[in-house]
Amino acid sequence: MRTWLEVNTKNLKYNIGKIYEKIGDRKIIGIVKANSYGLGSVEITKELIKCGVDFFAVATLSEGIELRETGIKEKILILGGVFDDELKDAEKYNLQVALSRFDQLEYININNIQVKCHLAIETGMGRIGFNFEEVEKVKKYVKENNLKNIIGVYTHLSVADEDSEENRNYTINQIKKFNNFSGIDTIKYRHILNSGGILSYSGMDNGNYVRVGIVMYGICGENWIEGFKSVISFKSKILFIKTLIEDMDISYGRACTLKKGEVVATIAAGYADGFKRGALNKITVNIQGRQCLVVGKVCMDMLMVKIPEDMVDSVKIGDEVILYGDDLVEKAKLIGSSTYEIITGINPRVKRVYIEE
Ligand SMILES: *Cc1c(COP(=O)(O)O)cnc(C)c1O
Repeated sequence: MRTWLEVNTKNLKYNIGKIYEKIGDRKIIGIVKANSYGLGSVEITKELIKCGVDFFAVATLSEGIELRETGIKEKILILGGVFDDELKDAEKYNLQVALSRFDQLEYININNIQVKCHLAIETGMGRIGFNFEEVEKVKKYVKENNLKNIIGVYTHLSVADEDSEENRNYTINQIKKFNNFSGIDTIKYRHILNSGGILSYSGMDNGNYVRVGIVMYGICGENWIEGFKSVISFKSKILFIKTLIEDMDISYGRACTLKKGEVVATIAAGYADGFKRGALNKITVNIQGRQCLVVGKVCMDMLMVKIPEDMVDSVKIGDEVILYGDDLVEKAKLIGSSTYEIITGINPRVKRVYIEE
């Protein structure tokens, strides 16, 4: 293998155990959208099933169909919204949808589409969802038309992972607004809490499900969670090593000059694998437990690092390089990106490897 993403399924299971401790009687909706944040939706879904999870959510219709086609029978909700012309397929594949438009509710009714729906309620995320005036109209319509397919209701928190007083008040207000919702008897699933919500607000929401995303990888917001374990390592190998015979400019744009005698290793990963270019002369990769500085611009398929003097004799071709691992959160900050963006940005050509240790 040249470059791969290692997923530690033992640590994943450990983290799920921790989450169960926090959520009391509530059940888990495993969020496996965007290829399970880049880690592999089918494999992560199967691991979660082993942990007792029986409800999943994706972002798009095609993500839901992909899970169905690999034989996943559990409940699946499409959270990212669907267009009217996707509803028939959602029904066909037994996928539940997030509903946030009144005219879509009418469309479903008029066309007699038997798709199960969760009402998305706008409480302060500003993305999709019914506002509280529309909610009344929805309730009335559901009653008048005797609709039986509204089985869930949810909202989404925008700052649950931030702990300033202002943001805490904002979140509390979102949860209170949501808790006021009632009046549709067919609703079985109520869910509010995302990762940040699970860690900080499990005491106050009245949902019976929680939506578990990045927290299962030991991360919340842009921080590691104390007591959880790290699941993700993005790895590559040393492809080439050279000792400079004269002062030399490294990589495109000649943004970095190294001195005669310095040792440069070329690593078999680049931005086309998902290693972000980031801030020049700040990013490091881990070789033999040491942080080695990335020099010059990251190329599409390779990047160069400077080997510290005392490591020169011990590095060799094929040595493992950890691009991001236990330092993922810190590196995301350094690059000016987010952990979500970095892991979902690891490209399909990078093999996903699941280890149970
Ligand atoms: C992505 C998403 C989640 C999961 O978010 P995390 O921060 O990873 O827990 C939960 N709910 C909705 C509606 C989402 O879009």
